[in-house]
Amino acid sequence: MHVLVLNSGSSSIKYQLLDMDTRSRLATGLVDRIGESSGHLVHNGEAVGADGFADHEAGLRAVLDTFAARGPALDRVVAVGHRVVHGGSRFERAELVDDEVEAAIEELIPLAPLHNPANLEGIRVARRAFPTLPHVAVFDTAFHQTLPPAAYTYAVPAEWDVRKYGFHGTSAAYVSRKAAELLGRSYEEVNTIVLHLGNGASATAVRGGRSVDTSMGLTPLAGLVMGTRSGDLDPGVLPYVARLTGLTLDEIDSALNRESGLRGLAGANDLREVWRKVDDGDRDARLAMDVYTHRIRGYIGNYYAVLGHVDAIVFTAGVGENDPRTRELSLTGLDRLGITIDPARNTAHSARARTISKDGSEVTVLVIPTDEELEIAEQTVDTADVGRTPPH
Ligand code: ADP
Repeated sequence: MHVLVLNSGSSSIKYQLLDMDTRSRLATGLVDRIGESSGHLVHNGEAVGADGFADHEAGLRAVLDTFAARGPALDRVVAVGHRVVHGGSRFERAELVDDEVEAAIEELIPLAPLHNPANLEGIRVARRAFPTLPHVAVFDTAFHQTLPPAAYTYAVPAEWDVRKYGFHGTSAAYVSRKAAELLGRSYEEVNTIVLHLGNGASATAVRGGRSVDTSMGLTPLAGLVMGTRSGDLDPGVLPYVARLTGLTLDEIDSALNRESGLRGLAGANDLREVWRKVDDGDRDARLAMDVYTHRIRGYIGNYYAVLGHVDAIVFTAGVGENDPRTRELSLTGLDRLGITIDPARNTAHSARARTISKDGSEVTVLVIPTDEELEIAEQTVDTADVGRTPPH
């Protein structure tokens, strides 16, 4: 039983073909710079000759041609899973796509103007390419629909109709379930703080398999310091800067999303580069890492209080999985909370899920590689109901 997973961005389509009987990856690839003449396609690590793709339709057609020419064959695909960034309050779980679901994703475009249009375009193109297969939309926000009102309500005039939604839900669902497995306990009885630290970064408090608070908000700009996004700041900064500089709201929004975070503080958004600068004695870079890890510690304390009892802290995504210095700094001084990292375990190289806390640490600290595509494929199989053998 094979599942095709599509992640359609504004100018790219990332794809994976997964065998759900063995949970293995059969193919992975990317079409990028859609709409430009320089776009190209990489299939299983190999560049496939191409001279650009006019639109998503042309991009997906090139992907299907490549599967036909180079394999593997797509004849065992039973369903197509689509990543959709914003599901608003409408989508509490993954959903089988029909015209009504497409229309609902379209209605949510104001909440995710950069992402939902591209996600939707990918769905439309793929439904035309695979008209007989079930298509499932898997939402980044869905896992956080269990947040209680106290956690998702903003203290602003009610008629603004804004609230926290949260993102990275597919990743948080995957790694928090894995954490329970690694602890050898049932998902329902384990409390976890998930630290998803990639280019985008978020913290999520998971109580017994349900998200109860998360650091991103109405948009993915809130919370932790990120590669180029500011994370939390006093909302009063916006009118202050607007008045002082004459920048428009759109310009400030763009600066908060693209020129802030580590890039704003240290001039680089990749943690590896920031650390190189720190090692060269760059004080701005040093401050950037202090701010970055101070914010993470603050969220750990916050979610410790929200959960009351924490069984595991999980580090995941590019930084969380690969950067022992950031992990160590983020947990410094938290011994009194029962969080004690083991320096040798923390610095040992491994691509596998592993424990990095000391034996006897009350809170187990884990590094778990996230796998959003596998989680999308799992939810696709469950939602499309293709996993069951049909009765004779
Ligand atoms: P995205 O949010 O785009 O999915 P990833 O989860 O792939 O991003 O994370 C990308 C980030 O991970 C990079 O920008 C880089 O800062 C960080 N990263 C990757 N490898 C390492 C490493 N070995 N050490 C420190 N940071 C790393």
